[in-house]
Amino acid sequence: MPSARSTPNEVLRDLPSIDEVLRTAAGRRISVEAGEVHTTDMARIVVNNLRAELQAGDKAAADLLGLCEDRLEQAWRVEVRTGTHRVINATGVVIHTNLGRAPLSESAREAIGNEASQYCTLEYDLTTGKRGKRGLRAERMLAGLTGAESVLIVNNCAAAAFFVLTVFASGGEVVISRGELVEIGGDFRVPDVLSQSGAALREVGTTNRTKLADYEKAINDKTRLILRVHPSNYRIVGYTAMPSLAELSSLAHRHGLMLYEDIGSGALIDLSPVGLRDEPIAGLSLIAGADIITFSGDKLLGGPQAGIIAGKADRIDRLRKHPLYRALRIDKIAYAALEATLDSYRRGKAVLEIPVLTMLALTKEQITDRLERFSVQLTKGLEDNEDLSFDMIDGVSAIGGGAAPSVSLATRLLALSHKKLTVREMEEKLRQSNPPVIARILDGKLLIDLRTVADEDEPGLLTALLSLA
Ligand SMILES: *Cc1c(COP(=O)(O)O)cnc(C)c1O
Repeated sequence: MPSARSTPNEVLRDLPSIDEVLRTAAGRRISVEAGEVHTTDMARIVVNNLRAELQAGDKAAADLLGLCEDRLEQAWRVEVRTGTHRVINATGVVIHTNLGRAPLSESAREAIGNEASQYCTLEYDLTTGKRGKRGLRAERMLAGLTGAESVLIVNNCAAAAFFVLTVFASGGEVVISRGELVEIGGDFRVPDVLSQSGAALREVGTTNRTKLADYEKAINDKTRLILRVHPSNYRIVGYTAMPSLAELSSLAHRHGLMLYEDIGSGALIDLSPVGLRDEPIAGLSLIAGADIITFSGDKLLGGPQAGIIAGKADRIDRLRKHPLYRALRIDKIAYAALEATLDSYRRGKAVLEIPVLTMLALTKEQITDRLERFSVQLTKGLEDNEDLSFDMIDGVSAIGGGAAPSVSLATRLLALSHKKLTVREMEEKLRQSNPPVIARILDGKLLIDLRTVADEDEPGLLTALLSLA
């Protein structure tokens, strides 16, 4: 095909300048949204990439300026989407780490928006007009709910574990069962946290069985504490043995050692009414004799990201006075959300008001009822459509967040199929909608689980689904 653009050099002459790209309709609009400096940077990258492609001998498009305009638009769209945006979680995974773990309760969201985001009483006492203690109310509420003598709150449970081990075990040995040397969610590995905190690992027993005597034999002059870690997302079943926390506690105390339990997901109340029977409950661990426990704020507790350290007053006091605390403490936004969340527990309204618990408590029958009502609207919206169709099938939701991996929650799912789009294409289109809908693909089906979709998100979900038709 002989043309005016037969050699790379001739083609490069048609390459638009950065200025020309900035003067296109998209260039002008994006300059307003992204600022001129950043838009110029993006346009430069677009033009440079295109130059490199042409020099490498790629076939030139007829309209190079139009191509640059499209690419600029695309680059800006992708960048905006990488930020923090709300999504509709239709996966059925309740504590979805990639989707921000616990969605906050209405009162927690209200506390963030109306209280903590203004000037606020973070370290100010309204009664005396003097400096107040940061986090005092959240700490007291948690002490009340767990029965702990004292509580301290840090950035997350990983920080809490690192902090406790650094302060109480650095330079000494920590005794732990081989069955608890686990990895929780990719970058929290118990052996790594221990070595980072300067404590030496003293592993005892075997993966499936550890006896009290195994712990006792490992204790020596260098031992600082006995560590128990809740295996969270992992279960050892079958021929197993593990001393109870109470047995470990009396062993530790007989030797003048501290017993520390990292319970991770940290239920504050008995969750067996919502189907979680073997999750450790914070208060019970303290009753059983743990000196210190740590757990997350945004797993089963259902609040903001936080790491809660609860236990004996003298131990907590030492942590509070340690210089590391300043580096690990949380901000006013998290305190406000945590206080509001804890308030629901204190009023006995946790399962009604905290989304994580409400979603876990939904029965298959309740979800089926909702799905049937939803499907009536969907059928109505799809009246003249030939391509998109759906089924309702039985399935399971997941708790997620490393809690109770052996519990499966029965649910009823919407399964979508399309004559022209593949399951992957449908999933991607839903992700591009506004607000984005995150669905699940299983066995070649695109699945929507209403368990994790808030009532008020149903219209948004419906619109997104109808846009597939
Ligand atoms: C989840 C978990 C952690 C890490 O908690 P983050 O709040 O995510 O830092 C630590 N220990 C246990 C046992 C856990 O389950």
